[in-house]
Amino acid sequence: MNIELPELATTVVGSFPSTPPVDALFKYCRDGQDPFHESLENAVEAQISAGIQIVSDGQTRNDMVKLFTTKLSGIRMRSKPVVIKEIGYKGPITVQDQKLAKQIIGDRALLKGIITGPFTLAMSCQDDFYGSMEKLAMGFAEALNKEARQLSEIVDILQIDEPFFSVEYPEYAGQLISTIFSGVKIPKAMHVCGDVGQIFSQLVELPVDILDHEFSAHPELMDIVSDIDFTQHIGFGCVRSDVNEVESIEIISERIKKGIDCVGQSRLLLDPDCGLRHLPPEVAKSKLENMVKARNVVIGNES
Ligand SMILES: [Zn+2]
Repeated sequence: MNIELPELATTVVGSFPSTPPVDALFKYCRDGQDPFHESLENAVEAQISAGIQIVSDGQTRNDMVKLFTTKLSGIRMRSKPVVIKEIGYKGPITVQDQKLAKQIIGDRALLKGIITGPFTLAMSCQDDFYGSMEKLAMGFAEALNKEARQLSEIVDILQIDEPFFSVEYPEYAGQLISTIFSGVKIPKAMHVCGDVGQIFSQLVELPVDILDHEFSAHPELMDIVSDIDFTQHIGFGCVRSDVNEVESIEIISERIKKGIDCVGQSRLLLDPDCGLRHLPPEVAKSKLENMVKARNVVIGNES
């Protein structure tokens, strides 16, 4: 990987609770001001004060699908987005938010950019134009490559989120990921949540540097990962993102030690299982704080 990462680098999958809540933010939108700036700043500052080393912009502006489908052409927004024409790139989608995040962070942390994957977007739409899931997903991949290239000038790591890969893994997955990452020179990460045990041997074939999965909700995945030869770093989900209970430092450090046994310390990054969007803000922050403390215990730097 062409970037020097801290030992057992701490990061996030991406999303963070919106503060104030998203409904209030939409109502508050007036005078040409962008109320999401405050929400983005809150998310970034919460991650930094928890001690996270590779932070995200928090994706507080919208959910992972609408964040992109509302800004691409060829889509009519209904409760489920409807594809009515060829998917096209109208212009920057998350670029401004990443610039703002970078500005807020300064040199206090690294920044991870996040794009919702072409397959997940395709599976989330009603297709009234392409008549083929593969063509629709490729349409998204080509459009989003333009976003990826711009983001790679701003962020330190670029991640594609493809939760739908664990539901159905398309045989053209490699083509989608190489298309979206074409021309991107910074480290590339791939987050797939859910149970990836059956597809892990295929995920390691993808042209990415980091594979990021839910090892806390699916601890059995560690046996599968141990049995397969691969070169990528592992984003090791070591706190649950689907339960409000904040795990103790002891529980998290035990999980981290198992992860080290599984792939070795030099190839491990630590993060929650998935995005934290649906947790109360104080719970999300406490989970990150305990994750950082557990990491420091494991590397013998607990003070
Ligand atoms: Zn996820």
